[in-house]
Amino acid sequence: MPVIETNELTFLYGEGTPFCKTAVDHVSISIEQGEFLGLIGHTGSGKSTLIQQFNGLLRPTSGRVLLNGKDIWAEPKKIRSVRFQVGMVFQYPEHQLFEETVLKDICFGPQNMGLPQDEAAERAREAARFVGLPDELLGKSPFELSGGEKRRAAIAGVIAMDPDVLILDEPTAGLDPRGRDMLLTQISAYHRDRNNTVILVSHSMEDIARVADRVLVMNGGKAVMLDRTEKIFARGRELESLGLRVPEVTKILLTLREHGYPVEASLTVDQAV
Ligand code: ADP
Repeated sequence: MPVIETNELTFLYGEGTPFCKTAVDHVSISIEQGEFLGLIGHTGSGKSTLIQQFNGLLRPTSGRVLLNGKDIWAEPKKIRSVRFQVGMVFQYPEHQLFEETVLKDICFGPQNMGLPQDEAAERAREAARFVGLPDELLGKSPFELSGGEKRRAAIAGVIAMDPDVLILDEPTAGLDPRGRDMLLTQISAYHRDRNNTVILVSHSMEDIARVADRVLVMNGGKAVMLDRTEKIFARGRELESLGLRVPEVTKILLTLREHGYPVEASLTVDQAV
């Protein structure tokens, strides 16, 4: 059963002005409950505009977004609840940390949903464990954390809302190789454990090859390919014509996955190549 479906989804920036730009162009796709979808495309291809319509941050110019079969804009007053069901981790999410303690920051989302304080704190602790933040960090100020820890705290804040769909926009950007590997492993474990839908936007073909079940390729606002990860990466020439280079190492990573090696195993290979 699809968790998100789009129907001729179209988004124009600056409609009716001389600067009008079609950012998403008649996209009709279906994302299954529980799948891990990779979203790729060169800069300006419409990835960010597309995902912001999945949780109602942007309202489509035309076309529809269905969440569990229901048009998310059917009742515009209820759009806030969609934002809890479709959790979004933006690029450099740590810039949004602002509370006195890490725990309070992670609690912010679940409290905003209306959960009582102790339940929100319980969810926050569980989310912190998911992203590998030790308990002793929860009482500290977010500003005392390292870059990688701040990133994980920000992601925990979204996971703590227990969204049906978790969307991550370039979650590993700016992290060192170790931080990046840890985070990918944790996201992958979260997906396995919760069996929720995860959408990962990344320019790293290696990251996508390690974790995605299927890949959606955007180009010029259109959804130009949507298929199993190994099938997408087998179309190297076509991807190159869209400005996407597929490194050789992706083949090794895909072979490892095919033989059942966990994400962690592929990390050493990636670093060795
Ligand atoms: P991506 O995430 O793939 O880089 P975006 O969705 O950010 O792509 O952008 C798609 C297109 O929309 C690009 O041509 C971009 O320049 C344009 N665009 C994005 N945001 C705005 C905006 N706020 N105003 C006008 N044009 C925008």
